[in-house]
Amino acid sequence: MKVAVPKEIKNHEYRVALTPTGVRELTGRGHQVSVQAAAGEGAGFTDADYQAAGAHVEADVDALWQGAELILKVKEPQAEEVARLSSGQTLFTYLHLAAEEKLTLGLLESGATCIAYETVTDSRGGLPLLAPMSTVAGRMAVQAGAHSLEKAQGGAGVLLPGVPGVSPGKVTVIGGGVVGENAARMALGLGADVTILDKSLARLEVLDDRYQGRIKTVYSTADALDEAVRDSDMIVGAVLIPGAAAPKLITRKMLADMQPGSVLVDVAIDQGGCFETSKPTTHADPTYIVEGIVHYCVANMPGAVARTSTLGLTNATLPFVIALADKGWQKALADDAHFLPGLNVHDGRVTYQAVADAFGLEY
Ligand code: NAD
Repeated sequence: MKVAVPKEIKNHEYRVALTPTGVRELTGRGHQVSVQAAAGEGAGFTDADYQAAGAHVEADVDALWQGAELILKVKEPQAEEVARLSSGQTLFTYLHLAAEEKLTLGLLESGATCIAYETVTDSRGGLPLLAPMSTVAGRMAVQAGAHSLEKAQGGAGVLLPGVPGVSPGKVTVIGGGVVGENAARMALGLGADVTILDKSLARLEVLDDRYQGRIKTVYSTADALDEAVRDSDMIVGAVLIPGAAAPKLITRKMLADMQPGSVLVDVAIDQGGCFETSKPTTHADPTYIVEGIVHYCVANMPGAVARTSTLGLTNATLPFVIALADKGWQKALADDAHFLPGLNVHDGRVTYQAVADAFGLEY
C-alpha cells in the first residue's frame, strides 16, 4: 500500500505520525512510504533517518497527498489538508469531530474514509490511542507545577520533596484516571505527600492496592475538596466525564482558603477546566495568577515534549497502522471489534453515532 506521512501544519504541532522505526516495519512488509520533507524535524528525526529506514522523502506536498492510499497524521486535518483529501483515500489521525462541525462536513464532502485515534477502544474499556497522551500530560503536570511553586514564578517557594527536617509539599490530584495516576506517581517519586480524590470507589480501590498506602485515596466530596484546598501546595485537576464539559470543582471563592503562592494545574482545561478561574494558556505563557494562586492551564501539554509524545503515540498506533496497510481498511476494521469504533466518516456518511448526534446528521 502507498502510505503518506505529511508534516503537521497546525500551529505549534511538532509531533509526527510515523517514526523511522515505523517506516521500517511498513517497508519490511512491502509497503511504499512517503514522508514529507522535514516532517520529523520537531520530534528529532531527520530526513536521512527516514531514508535509511526505506522511506521516500517527498518535498512536493501535492505529490505526497495525491499519490497516497493511506494518510497518517497526528492532528485533525486543517482546511488546506481537507481540500487535498479525496475519495478512495484513508485518513488515520486524531479527529475530535463532535466539537468540529465544519471539519466534519469537509470530511464528508471529501468522500474519504476517516478513522479517528480517539474513538478506538480496548478490551478493558479504555481508549488506547488517547491514553499515551494522558500519560504524558499527567507526568508533565507535576513537573510544571513544581516549577510554578518557585518564588520567581509567583509560587509559595515550596520544594516538593522538602529536605531533612522539613516536611514535603502536599499534592492533591482530583481524578485518579490515566492523567491523575501518572501525576500522582510523579509527585510520589519526587517525595511529595500525595492524595488522590475520585468519585469512583472502584478506581480508588485499584489505586490503593497498587500503591499500598503510599498514595492516599479519598472519596471526592465537597468536604474533601474543602480540605484539599486548605492543605495543598499543589492541586492537579484531572477529572473527565466522557462527552461532557468538566465540572467546576474549585470555585473562585474557595481560592481564598488556599495558601498564597499555591499552584493549580488544570489538565482538564481541554474539556473546559475543572477550576472556575481556569482559562486556556500556551507553552509560550503557561501561567497566570488569580487571588494569589498560580494557575497552569496549557491545553496541549504533550506538544512541549514532542519527541517523547511522538514515540509514545506511535508505539500505540503502529499495530493499527500495520493492520490498515496489510489488510486495507475494510478487513482491518472487520477483523477487530475495538478498531471498528475508530471509523468516523466513510464515503460521505458519518459512521460514529456521537458525531452524527452532535450535528443532527444521518448515521
Ligand atoms: P480518565 O477517564 O482516565 O480519568 C478521569 C477520572 O476522573 C476518572 O477516574 C473519574 O472517575 C474521575 N472523576 C470524574 N468526575 C470526578 C469528580 N467530580 N471528582 C473526582 N473525580 C472525578 O481521563 P484522563 O485520560 O485521565 O483525562 C483527564 C482529563 O485530562 C481529560 O479532560 C482529558 O481530556 C485531559 N487531558 C488534557 C491534556 C492537556 O494537554 N491539557 C492532555 C491529555 C488529557
